[in-house]
Amino acid sequence: MSLTLAILKPDCVRRRLIGKAIAFIEKHGFGIVCLKMVRLQRDEAGAFYNVHTGKEYFEPLLKFMTSGHSVLLVLEHEKAVQHFRKIIGATDPQKAAEGTLRRMYAENVRENIVHGSDSDENAKKEIAFFFPTMEIIK
Ligand code: UDP
Ligand code: MG
Repeated sequence: MSLTLAILKPDCVRRRLIGKAIAFIEKHGFGIVCLKMVRLQRDEAGAFYNVHTGKEYFEPLLKFMTSGHSVLLVLEHEKAVQHFRKIIGATDPQKAAEGTLRRMYAENVRENIVHGSDSDENAKKEIAFFFPTMEIIK
């Protein structure tokens, strides 16, 4: 088993889709290891998305990510990072495969419902960033 970090973004929370998103995630076999609801501060969102600094969408992304509460989840599954990326689909919901979370619910490339770590190394960093005391991180 391995771990990944998921974020149900502010659009997911605003649109009352938390239950549907979590049901979808559990239906696809993920165990929920940690869960909390937060409102990201600008500096946290900026640090979390720092690899996107300088991109034209960086400022609007931070504005969106700090616009309301998010749900942070640590998820467990075989090849969790890979499997989660597969079930959420491409960043742009119009390009996401049929039956993926983003294809079903996301409205556009920014407000795309959910974040999923993109590598085991980043998953480890992202989990430690939001759940610094979590003991299962080895
Ligand atoms: N994003 C955006 N405009 C873009 C590309 C990305 O607003 O043209 C946002 C979107 O919310 C995305 C996040 O920036 O989920 C991180 O982008 P990335 O390319 O890492 O996509 P992801 O890994 O989330 O699929
Ligand atoms: Mg990414």
